[in-house]
Amino acid sequence: MSEKTPSFLDMIKGFATDVVEYAKQGAPHVTENQYKERIRTCATCPDLIKKSMRCGKCGCLVEQKARWATTACPASKWPKVKIGSGGKKIQLGTKKDESKSNNPKASE
Ligand code: SF4
Repeated sequence: MSEKTPSFLDMIKGFATDVVEYAKQGAPHVTENQYKERIRTCATCPDLIKKSMRCGKCGCLVEQKARWATTACPASKWPKVKIGSGGKKIQLGTKKDESKSNNPKASE
């Protein structure tokens, strides 16, 4: 198990990127089952720093990081969750846009 985390500056940069994406997507969370699966994966990962429950790869608190649908494991052990496929449902686009995509003649 690694006890070393990335530099403070790298952790801030990674966290800022995650926060911006999370906010842009409407702050979606994963389902409880998806969350448990992510935490199970982290619990067996050699990069987890168990004492602080931080990821040794990105420095994030895994119990928080795993809740956000827009985050992914930096070692590709669990992916982002596609919005609307199990996480919080959010509305993409406007009603006008949806009517165009459902009606091919609408764009003619
Ligand atoms: S986020 Fe990925 S690399 Fe970090 S502790 Fe969890 S499984 Fe390991």
